[in-house]
Amino acid sequence: MAIPFVIFILGLFIGSFLNVCIYRWPLDRSVIKPRSACTNCGTLLTPVDLVPVLSYLACNGRCRYCKSSISPRYALVEILTGIAFVTLYRSQGLTFEFLGCVIFFSLLIIAFFTDIDHQIIPDQVSLGGMAVGILLDVALLSAGYARPTVDLPLFTNGLSVPGSIFGAVVCFALFWIIAAGASALFKAEALGGGDIKLAGAVGAFLGWKLALLSFVLAFVLGAAGGIILLVSKLKTRREYIPFGPYMVIGAVTAAFVGTHILAWYLNFYF
Ligand SMILES: [Zn+2]
Repeated sequence: MAIPFVIFILGLFIGSFLNVCIYRWPLDRSVIKPRSACTNCGTLLTPVDLVPVLSYLACNGRCRYCKSSISPRYALVEILTGIAFVTLYRSQGLTFEFLGCVIFFSLLIIAFFTDIDHQIIPDQVSLGGMAVGILLDVALLSAGYARPTVDLPLFTNGLSVPGSIFGAVVCFALFWIIAAGASALFKAEALGGGDIKLAGAVGAFLGWKLALLSFVLAFVLGAAGGIILLVSKLKTRREYIPFGPYMVIGAVTAAFVGTHILAWYLNFYF
């Protein structure tokens, strides 16, 4: 079997697990126990009911037991994860970096949907992501991968800090300052604690340069999206518009084409 196909199937099954995390982590429930059940009738689902996408299609998007309709989003998250995994495989091959990317993107998918559903970015994603990002980076460095550490003049004279730690600290601090400044100026919470911690995780995985680029993209997208939501009256001024989904889109964009954007920008201005 072709490897991309296997990776896609693997992505579908991981996506199925991400659905469980999206549903349960904001409610502070275990993702291991109990087994998944229909949210309407409570019937415990068997392996036959849990085949990604196919179970959904086979029952026309309904529960096999009570016939209540199931949100197509579960299948969409599974397909999205499958596509993300194949795309990452195509750019990274079967490498240690591929593993890191797969973990990072899985966390981003969870953050995207929990923030839309509950305005929550679970600590498992943000703090867990920060920890995993740093651990992977340190493991890469100690395994002898010549991955660049921080390339700031301040750090080049013998002091070597893994880029993940520097990225996490800088991005966390930056968002903390922006959040504190915004709440002092506008007396309203513009960025939540979840956003600040997620910024740290993005910094840990992408390093400070790509992470800062991802935040610029997120703020631009967030401003545009906010205006569209207000003008189309989908949201009112008082309603909270979650920022996490914009950070996720910014991070994905920066991960794939960020180096090209930075190179173009630096060529353009310098
Ligand atoms: Zn049911």
